[in-house]
This record gives sequence, structure tokens and C-alpha cells, in this order.
Amino acid sequence: MDNKSCLIVGAGISGLLAARELQEAGWRVTVLDKGRGVGGRMATRRMSGAGFDHGTQFFTVREDRFENLVNGWLDEGAAVEWSRGFADARGNANPDGHPRYRGSDGMTSIPKHLADGLDVRTGERATRVDRSGEGWTVACESGESVSGGALLLTAPVPQSLALAESGNHTLTEGARRQLEGVSYDPCLAVMALLDGDSPVPEPGGVQIKDEPLDWIGDNATKGISDRPALTIHAGPQWSRAHYDDEEADVTRALLDLASQQLGADLVSSVVETSLARWRYSWVTSSHEETCLVASEEPPLVFCGDGFGRPKVEGAALSGLAAADRLLGREA
Ligand SMILES: Cc1cc2nc3c(=O)[nH]c(=O)nc-3n(C[C@H](O)[C@H](O)[C@H](O)COP(=O)(O)OP(=O)(O)OC[C@H]3O[C@@H](n4cnc5c(N)ncnc54)[C@H](O)[C@@H]3O)c2cc1C
Repeated sequence: MDNKSCLIVGAGISGLLAARELQEAGWRVTVLDKGRGVGGRMATRRMSGAGFDHGTQFFTVREDRFENLVNGWLDEGAAVEWSRGFADARGNANPDGHPRYRGSDGMTSIPKHLADGLDVRTGERATRVDRSGEGWTVACESGESVSGGALLLTAPVPQSLALAESGNHTLTEGARRQLEGVSYDPCLAVMALLDGDSPVPEPGGVQIKDEPLDWIGDNATKGISDRPALTIHAGPQWSRAHYDDEEADVTRALLDLASQQLGADLVSSVVETSLARWRYSWVTSSHEETCLVASEEPPLVFCGDGFGRPKVEGAALSGLAAADRLLGREA
């Protein structure tokens, strides 16, 4: 098997950017994702004509390499600047001059844009990884099986770790220990369609960063929904404590908490709701390098927001770093 081919598990921002980099360098790349669409935690859902960003709400830019990418997305219409700060927990405007970006039609606009021209197979849950010949074979729940010279695992690290050891390959003790050190907080996210005006102040987000609530956003004021459509994120402690509670109980509790926070009666104006349970949302402990090479030959690399910096920017830079390693470029 030639080593100029790569299987990538995960079509989030890290996997897609790595895929583009490798494909541009002439590699044959196949991306597998268990989701119905691409984007992973950069997720947008439609419900009764409304749009909801229910994972990532916005992203910021610190490093030049990421800034160059984001400038391209802005030029190509995949991303727009949303605001320069949000209301604080008291509802007071709190601009700090630092740009926050969003996808043009919701967060998934960016991964959809990046997936264009790539061989991305959605609805394919990878269940087993084996070393085969001079490369790797990934088997999917669907019965599909794909082979390639290099393997890049981009899912949240506990999921990638389980996958890496699901077949005939054993990680070194050192690699496993480093991967086991990466952890994430959960996040319970309620989406609520409103029949009436939104009580969320301009520019459409209240950034609480506390317990029991972390964030309340209105996707209409944000500019990605024709109808008032709230996204409410619980804080990590509350999410952990209530992770397995009944959907109706979680939804009611978070709507009550958001009503108190906003000083408005949300419950009477809600017409439809949905709950997302993010087992892995924010990284709480990351691997210090931007990716981890678990096998040089055949190459097995781990990347994503658990490596280097967290969040969308960290995931993007990690995907690029993983591609750099496979291409033998200086990271
Ligand atoms: C609720 C929430 C709010 C957030 N808010 C922000 C924010 O405001 N700003 C910010 O910068 N970041 C935010 N983040 C974090 C940000 O979303 C992530 O850091 C970033 O999107 C991670 O990208 P990734 O490519 O590393 O992983 P992911 O986006 O998780 O991509 C991994 C992909 O792997 C796929 N996958 C997993 N297992 C398998 C399998 N077995 N087979 C096939 N496919 C598989 C998944 O479906 C997924 O698409 C938030 C996250 C959440 C959940």
C-alpha cells in the first residue's frame, strides 16, 4: 500500500483542515464521520424553520496561521464577524473590541465549505481499526471498510483512544498515558423555539460563564434564524450532575434558570424544544503538543482540540499540525 493515502476519522474542523492540507499535497484522503453532516461540535440544527447553533457559539482568533484561514473564510462568504463582545450576566453590554466570528448561515457553514471537494463519507461510524499490510484498515458499523497508508484520529480523545485499540494494534504505554490525560467537560444544551420576541439583548448572546448557566443565545438576533430561537448552555457542573436526567426535566429546569437570568417568562412563549447532550464540550486538560504521533510507520496520529490550544482555533491548528507531521514539514 502506498503511504500517500490517509484515512481520517472525524469531519470536525481539525479533520477537515488536515484533509485539505494533505489533498493539496497530492495525497488520497478519505474522511469518515458518524454524523449526518460534517462539523462535529461546530453544529447547526434546523427545527420548524428556525436555525440553532447548539455547539460552538462563536470563535476568536489569536495566531497568525489561524487568522489567515479565517480571512479566507470571510472573503469566501463562509464566515462573518458576529460581534466584539456580548452582554454580561447582568445583561449589560460588554464590548471589548475583540472580534467574535460565526459561520455565515450558522456554524456548519464553515465545515461545509471546507468539505467541498473532499471525499467525506458521513453516516459512517468507525468501530474498529486494524493494522493491515503497510497501513491501516478502518471498519464501520455500516459494514463499510476502508484502507489507507496513514491514519488520523480526530474525535474527542477518549473516543479516539478506544478506537485505536479496538483491533490488532496496541499503543505504547507512553502514548496511552498521554492520551488518557486529556479530558473534557460535558454540556447540556437546550434549543427553544419562541413564539414572540426574544428577551436576549443585542448582539444575541449573554455570556454568563458560571453555574448553573454558561450561555444564553438568540439565533435570530445572531442572524442565523428567521424566528427567535434560543440556545441555552448549562455550566459543566450542572451538566455533569444532570447529564442522564429525563429530557423534559432538563429542559424545564434550564428554561426556568434562563427565565430568571433574563427576567422574562420563557416557559409561556416556548413552542418547541430539543435537547443536545454533549459528552465532550470544552477541554479541561489537554496534551501540550499540537498533535500526538502514536506510530511513525505506518503513521498513526491523534489531533483535535485536546492537543495544544483548546476551542475552534486550537482544533484547527492541531489539524494543520497533524498534516504537517504526515507531510514531514516543520510544525
Ligand atoms: C456546547 C459547546 C459549546 C462550545 N462553544 C465554543 C465556543 O463558543 N467557541 C469555541 O471556540 N469553541 C467552542 N466549543 C468547542 C469547539 O466546538 C471544539 O473545540 C471544536 O469544534 C473541536 O473540533 P474537533 O475537530 O477537534 O472535534 P469535533 O468537532 O468533535 O470533531 C470530531 C468528529 O469526529 C466524529 N466522530 C467521533 N467518533 C467517530 C467514529 N467512531 N466514527 C466516525 N466519526 C466519529 C464526530 O462525529 C465529529 O464530527 C464548544 C463545544 C461545545 C460542545
